[in-house]
Order: sequence, then C-alpha cells, then structure tokens
Amino acid sequence: RAFLDRIAATDERVNAFITVCEQDALLQAEAADARLKAGDDALLTGIPLALKDIFVTEGLRTTCASKILSNFVPPYNGTAVAKLKEQGAVILGKLNMDEFAMGSSNENSAFGPVRNPWKVDCVPGGSSGGSAACVAARQAIATLGTDTGGSIRQPASHCGVVGLKPTYGRVSRYGVIAYASSLDQVGPVTRDVEDCAMLLGAVAGYDPADSTSVDVPVPDYRATLKDGVKGLKVGLPKEYFIEGLDPDVKQAVEKAVDTLRELGAEPVEVSLPHTDYAVACYYLIATAEASSNLARYDGVRYGQRVDREQGLIDMYMQSRAAGFGPEVKRRIMLGTYALSSGYYDAYYLKAQKVRTLIRQDFLDAFNQVDVILTPVAPTPAFQIGEKTADPLQMYLSDIFTIPVNLAGTCGMSLPCGMSQKGLPIGLQLIGRPFGEETLLRTAYAFE
Ligand code: GLN
Repeated sequence: RAFLDRIAATDERVNAFITVCEQDALLQAEAADARLKAGDDALLTGIPLALKDIFVTEGLRTTCASKILSNFVPPYNGTAVAKLKEQGAVILGKLNMDEFAMGSSNENSAFGPVRNPWKVDCVPGGSSGGSAACVAARQAIATLGTDTGGSIRQPASHCGVVGLKPTYGRVSRYGVIAYASSLDQVGPVTRDVEDCAMLLGAVAGYDPADSTSVDVPVPDYRATLKDGVKGLKVGLPKEYFIEGLDPDVKQAVEKAVDTLRELGAEPVEVSLPHTDYAVACYYLIATAEASSNLARYDGVRYGQRVDREQGLIDMYMQSRAAGFGPEVKRRIMLGTYALSSGYYDAYYLKAQKVRTLIRQDFLDAFNQVDVILTPVAPTPAFQIGEKTADPLQMYLSDIFTIPVNLAGTCGMSLPCGMSQKGLPIGLQLIGRPFGEETLLRTAYAFE
C-alpha cells in the first residue's frame, strides 16, 4: 500500500509507469502475507517490484511503449518474470521506456517522456528510464530492465541507482520482446549492491526456452560480496578517458579509482584499441536485427490494426505507419538497408568482423586485469529536448556502454558522485564473461 501511495503521489511528475496494477498488487501482497504466516521464506516474498514494459506478463498489458502494442495482453509470463513470481515478488506494474528499447533518454515513448526524479526537466536516461526513475523515486524496491547497448547502465547512472547488465546468456530472454537479439540482456536496477546481487541471483540461470542462455551454475552472489578488493587489478582503458568527457564525471571517476587504491586494489592502464568503431558497429548490428525482429508487427498477429479497403499489403503498411514512432521507423529503414541484397557483405558482415575484434580487445585486457573501470556516460543527465533534433548526438551517449554488449560480457553501473548541478554520476565496472561476482564484490567495496 505504501508503495502504491508513493506512486500515486509522485508519478504525475515522474511518469515512470505505463500501467499500475493497483488491485492485483494488493491481492498479491495479501497472498504473500499468508505465505509468510505459513512459514514460507522464499527470497522475494512480499517484495514490491516493477518491470520494464518489455517483459511479457500474463493477463497484463505489455506495450513496449509503442502504439502498435497498446492493446496487447500476453497469454504467458516470460522466464524472468515467472522466476520472480515463484519467489514471492509482488508486481506493482509496468514501466515506461523508449519504444522497443530504442533510445537513450526515454523521450521515444508513445506514453510520454519519463522525468529524472533528481531534476524533472532532465531525462532519466534510456531505454530503461522508467526502471531507473522508479527506483530513484522510491516507487518500488527494485525493478528489472533490459540492456542492448547501455539501457540499464546509462539510466541507472543518470538516476543515481545501481544497474547490472549480465553476460550474454546469463539470464533468459524468453518472454522479453526482442530488439537486437544478439545483444539484448535482462538485468536488475536496485538501490544498492546487495539488492542487485539478490535480484540477479533470482533471475539468472539456464533456460531451455532460450537457446542462447548458457548452462553454467548460478553462484550465490551475496556470499562473496564482502571479499574485498585487496590485490585486485583494475584496468583503466586509455580510450575511455578522452577529451569531451565532462569534467565533473572525470573527477568523480578518478576519485573512485583513488578509493579502490586505498582499499588495496591496483589500478593499471589498459588499451581497448577498437573502441572507436564500437558505436558504428553497434548501429549496424542493432538496426539490422531490429528490422528483422520488428517484421512480426503486421497488424495481424499482434497489436493494433488499421483496416483499409485496399487489401492485405496496404493493411500492413497502414498499421505499421500508424503504430511505430519515428525512431523505430528510422531504425527499421537503416537495418533493412544494411541487410538488403548486395549490401550485406559491406555492412552487416563487416560489422560482425569488427565486433569480434572488439570482443578480443576485452579478452586481451582481461589477461592483465580482473575488472575494468570506466565512466558510464560522457555527461550527467541532459535536459529533456536537448538531443532530440540530432540522432547522432543521442547515439553517442552510449559510447562507453555499447562495447560491453558487443563483447557479450557483463557490466555494472553504480553511483560515484554528484555533478555541480546536483545530478548523479555513475561508475562502470566491466567484468570477464560470467564474472558478475567480481563486479558485485568490487562495487560493494564502495558501500
Ligand atoms: N541507446 C541504445 C539504442 O538506442 C541502447 C538501447 C538499449 O540498450 N536498449 O539502441
């Protein structure tokens, strides 16, 4: 009830929720109370959580912040959601996001922009802007987001909360609406590192329903949190500490390096030489995969249909023209172009080769260090409207997070200071594939 009241009191300003399940949440809470009385000690019993509206939820509208899915009520729960429910969580509702997870500011939502709880004329970041703003505004204990090129870490950074993108394959994508399938991952957004460890443990693991999920055991992430950072080698990639980095961000991140050094870690300069190609490579791969994934929204099988007299093709065209927003259309066009006959070798195939080089950069660096430390984003949260006119400027806000998705490894964002204007600044930790324990234990050392 307290969380529902908090949502009612704050969400007119924040706009983090697309759907609030007022009645159902109270019923779930009553059921949780009954289970607690009966001695059930499942990890999440009665814990109020909320989900990015990209997770399909049985009987609960799932829009992906798009008009084309504005009336879509899925018939099943995805794996991550089912796991949360099995462990007793209470789902408060579905969170706002950039349409189909395409964006870095949450301004690409058919349900209006999310506002940063620290400063409501600023963006919360994106695409999981609702997930980060919700936790920052104390509307839920924690949330789930997804991260294809930074969509958990960048909004977590801009909202002063903790966010983790697991290794590709660590969490099942079954029942998560696909944007770019070779990059998408599910992860937690939380107030602190311990909650992050708990929520990751709750959703991680092999799932036969997702052929890209990996069958490696899920460690007890909480058990190693307090192991400290003595002797840990921390890599500082020289390509990430560049001109153009906001001075407040630079200062806060350097202070975090000093703290780790005082705690016994050893900072080491490393190089990730193909960093410059990451954004271009990502926008070829992500848009190509998106154009293919979004072909299913034809007005027949899902969502909104515009009926026309002129026949089937016209109905597809009108439904898609009316249902998708401008950024989604831009990406479908870019991706379709890159995949079209005669261009495949020059664009998609080339991008895949560059992707391999970027992954190799990280693997080489992890021969020298245990964890890599960088800023999350070049600047703190920007003003609503500041970058909407220039998509390239917007794309550059993920310059430090995108390489991690291309490499398929894990990354985490945690608060490390405030800008002079009073906006949170985040620190990124990058780990070896399936090295989430090292990220969490390093992050915990700051608490
Ligand atoms: N901002 C990036 C994009 O627009 C990343 C989005 C994401 O991680 N879902 O594609």
